[in-house]
Amino acid sequence: MPRTLITGAAGFLGSHLCDRFLKEGHHVIGMDNLLTGSLDNIAHLFPLKEFEYYHHDVSKFVHVPGELDYILHFASPASPIDYLKMPIQTLKVGALGTHNLLGLAKAKQARILVASTSEVYGDPLIHPQKEDYWGNVNPVGPRGVYDEAKRFMEAITMAYHNFHNVETRIIRIFNTYGSRMRVDDGRALPAFFSQAIRGEGLTVFGDGSQTRSFCFVDDLVEGIYRLLMSDHHLPINIGNPSEITIKEFAEEILELVGNPAAKIIYKPLPKDDPKVRKPDITKARKILGWEPKVDRKEGLKKTLEYFRSKVV
Ligand code: UDP
Repeated sequence: MPRTLITGAAGFLGSHLCDRFLKEGHHVIGMDNLLTGSLDNIAHLFPLKEFEYYHHDVSKFVHVPGELDYILHFASPASPIDYLKMPIQTLKVGALGTHNLLGLAKAKQARILVASTSEVYGDPLIHPQKEDYWGNVNPVGPRGVYDEAKRFMEAITMAYHNFHNVETRIIRIFNTYGSRMRVDDGRALPAFFSQAIRGEGLTVFGDGSQTRSFCFVDDLVEGIYRLLMSDHHLPINIGNPSEITIKEFAEEILELVGNPAAKIIYKPLPKDDPKVRKPDITKARKILGWEPKVDRKEGLKKTLEYFRSKVV
């Protein structure tokens, strides 16, 4: 039975990864410090003997007894509001945390996959974004703490691959949604769903003409699994190329939720908010045989059930 360490296990993506790797027959060690994660997301796993949970901050030395076959590093604040509130922790988990986990992978001869992000492209000047685009990031802007930590993550991961022959995988994750997102994480989808359900104003930032491309969590998890099992060590975009403006996205959610009391209101655009974002997934298609299967309509419907159960 392969033994797999998942950091950020109590978070949105980490908890879905725990489910998937348990289903694939792995022994899963989930690690989290609950800075932004919640044990509610993995409470259903605690009775399983194939699942262990360690409460630990991976920016400090990471000790795991026994053998390890795979490491998935998904610990980090991930929403712009979270990393503005926790800039130092965000830098530390992306930089020091990644260093610790690469050291662990080297010591255990484990294969490691690190969660990078479309934020490495910053406010992109190339559209859609291909993996060979180097990005347009403001290192001293508010998003710099996340973007630069993730860029460092990629650099140190390549260094461990090149100099220590560690088996590494780098995924660049684009906007993803689904159950277990934190209702108050400040991202567009949780904000719009909870505002629509409560009959409040949907807070569109700027004029809402900025674009994003939203991927359903099950598709993302499939992409992660395939990348981990592949032999490709260079970064790969995983995301859904279906692009939409934020205003249209808010309108879709308004229509789906169907609460006549809710309507769109406009708020100032945050500094350095990327104007466009859409993954070029040619590489994922060719190398992993992967593409998203769940369209936005279907994915949003499934996700609405979760938000209705969480929003009070
Ligand atoms: N956004 C918005 N209203 C909100 C939250 C976000 O209009 O209440 C916008 C935000 O300015 C950005 C887009 O929605 O242009 C996606 O933001 P999110 O925080 O979900 O993640 P990002 O893609 O910026 O990392």
